[in-house]
Amino acid sequence: MQEYIMALDQGTTSSRAIVFDTEGRIVSQAQQEFSQIYPEPGWVEHDPMEIWETQIAVAEKANKELGKKQSVAALGITNQRETVVVWDRMTGEPIYNAIVWQCRRTKDECQRLTDEGYAPLIRRKTGLVVDSYFSATKIKWILDHVPGARARAKAGELLFGTIDTWLLYRLTEGEVHATDCSNASRTMLFNIHEGAWDEELLTLFDIPRGMLPEVHDSSHLYGVVRDKRLAGIPIGGMIGDQQAALFGQRCFAPGSAKNTYGTGCFLLMNVGDIPIESDKGLLTTVAWRLDGKLTYALEGSIFMAGALIQWLRDEMGLLQQVADSETMAKEVQDNGGVYLVPAFTGLGAPYWDMGARGTIVGLTRGSNKNHLVRAALEAICYQVKDVLDLMTEESGVPLSRLRVDGGAVANDFLMSFQSHMLGVPVIRPRLVETTAFGAAALAGLATGFYGGVDELERVLAVDRIFQPDMRPEVQELYYHEWKRAVERSRNWIEK
Ligand code: ADP
Repeated sequence: MQEYIMALDQGTTSSRAIVFDTEGRIVSQAQQEFSQIYPEPGWVEHDPMEIWETQIAVAEKANKELGKKQSVAALGITNQRETVVVWDRMTGEPIYNAIVWQCRRTKDECQRLTDEGYAPLIRRKTGLVVDSYFSATKIKWILDHVPGARARAKAGELLFGTIDTWLLYRLTEGEVHATDCSNASRTMLFNIHEGAWDEELLTLFDIPRGMLPEVHDSSHLYGVVRDKRLAGIPIGGMIGDQQAALFGQRCFAPGSAKNTYGTGCFLLMNVGDIPIESDKGLLTTVAWRLDGKLTYALEGSIFMAGALIQWLRDEMGLLQQVADSETMAKEVQDNGGVYLVPAFTGLGAPYWDMGARGTIVGLTRGSNKNHLVRAALEAICYQVKDVLDLMTEESGVPLSRLRVDGGAVANDFLMSFQSHMLGVPVIRPRLVETTAFGAAALAGLATGFYGGVDELERVLAVDRIFQPDMRPEVQELYYHEWKRAVERSRNWIEK
């Protein structure tokens, strides 16, 4: 009988299940979207039962496709992070919809915490900036707004979980209430230095300790599925989606980093066993915990990446399909002095200027649409360099290479220019499902499917390595011009 590993990849818009063989090749997969609920402007919810039903349905489908002679040896869960579910311990029924990471309903509460001076304490303990993204204020909101909830929580009747914990609870039919360190580190209740829930923060948010799941290694035998649709499969891994990609990309050494090029960019850099604190708004987060040993990462994101190319297509009508951006960029020798700063909603790290706005500079009579498209692709690369430079500066760990995934990595021009800008190789794997593979691999490690982390080194074949090949003075000039363009975009909105 041939054995495989499965990932449940529970994302913000869909639930997916993917089965891999030992070499990390996809054997079967299934996906199902679920409803996005917007009760008020800026609020986002999901139905936890719909998340569960879609997730178990796709897992059952992917499992059935394997046929009788093949079986799943272990299952790992990766998930949208920070999203909150609170449910009844006895019935397993949620008492409110899941409040999604994107939901801004607690932003005033976060402002209040900042005004009252709690930000440095929270930052020191959790590595996070005070923001409504993270779970703590969302849990508090449910306890404050669902009638009787706080009293029931205090009486031990309610449980909290991020989506990993919720799925684990359903899979084991209420037997196991647990999470891993990476997911815990996104709640704003977890002390990342001690690797434990923080009593002082629990008191600050008035959240009873008894609601919280046990915290384990990211690779750990959490339990065995009891639900009849997948009964008997051991659950061996849990990890937040971005950290799963870092693991799936085998960024095991300090200084190795991954970037996901999607609508926006998500950058994570392994900084080893010291939780480096950022002064410039990067997040410090737990990458994973293995054999009781914590590994940390610095995390930064970029608001506009692939979305910029969509904007050129949909709003400007400059191209038919996003993939055309590559040919168009190659039509011209260089950017012709044109720079596009995509500060559509302000600028994030390292600038943190919410009054900045989108800017195009350097236009001349000879500028054409290809220059503009090229400037857009280059802008993605400059922004990635901005964040990675900050990471290496703050961590003191030099960048060795960048591993990449996400939809836009199909663009060779983008990848090549990225490598020139960073001066390190950019490695594009053949398998782009790095997030799912990361979770499945952690499960495989827990059950002996893989003997150790070194065994993972041979899986995930490389598709292409883009080597830096630009004269340093040219590279410096481009980046210098970019910085000047950024200055032009800043403080556009008058206070
Ligand atoms: P998400 O998970 O954020 O929805 P994906 O990883 O699916 O994103 O990537 C889609 C994004 O990548 C879109 O914003 C799209 O514009 C961009 N993209 C996809 N293919 C290309 C390409 N060949 N060149 C440039 N951008 C691309």
